[in-house]
Amino acid sequence: MDTASRHVVVIGGGISGLSSAFYLHKFSVEQGMDLTISVIERDQHFGGQFMTLHKDGFVIEKGPDSFHAPNESMMELISDLDLEDELVAASSDLDRTYILHRGELQKLPQGISLGIPTHIKPLFKTNLLSFPGKLRAGMDLFIPKRMDDYDESVGSFLERRLGQEVLENIAEPLLTGIYAGDTYKLSLQATFPQFGEIEKTHGSLIRGMKSIAGTRGPLDLSGPSDDVQTSKRLTFRQGMQSIAHSLVHYLHPQVNLIQNTCVTAIERVEKSLEDAEARNTYQIVLDSGKVLSAAAVILTTPTYVASPWLEPYVSTRMLDHVHYISVANIVMGFDAADIPQPLEGSGFLVPRKEKRNITACTWTSNKWPHTTPEGKVMLRLYVGREGDEHNVDLPDEQMIELVRKDLREVLGIEAAPVLTEITRLKDSMPQYPVGHLNALERLREEMAVELPGIEVAGSGYEGVEVPDCVRQGRNAAAKIIQFIQ
Ligand SMILES: Cc1cc2nc3c(=O)[nH]c(=O)nc-3n(C[C@H](O)[C@H](O)[C@H](O)COP(=O)(O)OP(=O)(O)OC[C@H]3O[C@@H](n4cnc5c(N)ncnc54)[C@H](O)[C@@H]3O)c2cc1C
Repeated sequence: MDTASRHVVVIGGGISGLSSAFYLHKFSVEQGMDLTISVIERDQHFGGQFMTLHKDGFVIEKGPDSFHAPNESMMELISDLDLEDELVAASSDLDRTYILHRGELQKLPQGISLGIPTHIKPLFKTNLLSFPGKLRAGMDLFIPKRMDDYDESVGSFLERRLGQEVLENIAEPLLTGIYAGDTYKLSLQATFPQFGEIEKTHGSLIRGMKSIAGTRGPLDLSGPSDDVQTSKRLTFRQGMQSIAHSLVHYLHPQVNLIQNTCVTAIERVEKSLEDAEARNTYQIVLDSGKVLSAAAVILTTPTYVASPWLEPYVSTRMLDHVHYISVANIVMGFDAADIPQPLEGSGFLVPRKEKRNITACTWTSNKWPHTTPEGKVMLRLYVGREGDEHNVDLPDEQMIELVRKDLREVLGIEAAPVLTEITRLKDSMPQYPVGHLNALERLREEMAVELPGIEVAGSGYEGVEVPDCVRQGRNAAAKIIQFIQ
């Protein structure tokens, strides 16, 4: 191995970029490599969509509020950062979720996992489905499995197995929380590959999910307390931004953390250059006019940002096919005395056909009691999904009015909130089209030839959830270390 220091540039300082830098540093130290690492972030703060605000005693999440557990990549990073003691498990009340159905809140039947029923009895008792809808869902037990390996949309898959009513009344509103998308456009293989696998292995989604739910025991993790080990969702006591702060703290000063700086282009240095220079194959052009040379690059920006940089060298059609949805969330704090009915459970979801302004409402103070001062209630309301993004751009006053109308009509809350915090996340939720994973594989093959030493990672590629981003950052770092060796 060449002993001179190599420069690796990570573009984007969200969780994917910070995880990439963390593992580049960790692996290079473990292997005794001399690596110079820089992270370039457009905004003033690192963390990307991670934004926690501490205000008037409330811990307010403006981006992700928690992550799905158990997850190996996430727990490894948390352990490396010594953050286990900061973990908080969602209240056990979380299991009770409601769905708005014909204007009334109906309990989600017990045993629904990611929109899929795992128990027949509660499914047959629910008011969310008509009798024919229930029979149709039960037919999943008898419908033959698909034999080919082609991708299909989440919507067509769930409709094929469980029928339209389960899709529209239960599954779609649950999945909206993750993708805010149109299930008929989302790739099954790129979003919920486990569903396809279950169909193949068990011949039926209900049978498969039931068998998985029955065999899953508590996680074997040493350290965190029992509730943290068994809870389905975890967060950090001081908010999700804790992990971004810890990463920045860990990386500084070994890694160059460059904020308020926008990358405008990446240029490949032509191979005719002298060998000594060719080690720095790429030039990263910054908005300041400065140019950084790098031997390798990890791109973690949204695909629409990366596409024009790669377009001179490879076909970027697949990057352009990832469409991003804009969403907003409105956090409202109330005096507990102003809430007319006790809020039990974690909140409610709103199917499209209810034609409401909001897509969901989390009863944050129930789900995460540590976030809310005594005597107060905190709600988080979500606006915007595929085909219904116009409300996201409304002026604050109008948005608050629309959201309060829904709160009044669904929960009977007339009182004005004591605190309101609006966050708009424009073009923030990537939608993977059918065939996304194959297209990504082809892009990577082309990049390996035309742009060796450039890796892509992040929510635009292989999973939008926080643990997916951490895993992708780790994988990209491992590939770059191997490339440089
Ligand atoms: C409202 C909302 C709620 C969510 N809730 C959850 C949740 O509860 N749990 C969960 O697991 N997931 C959740 N997610 C998903 C998850 O938060 C994201 O997928 C994840 O944070 C994306 O991380 P990332 O690093 O890939 O992208 P980003 O966070 O978008 O980071 C990309 C970074 O690149 C920077 N950048 C862009 N262009 C340039 C440029 N030209 N030069 C330099 N830098 C640039 C950006 O400023 C940004 O910081 C949520 C997402 C949203 C929008």
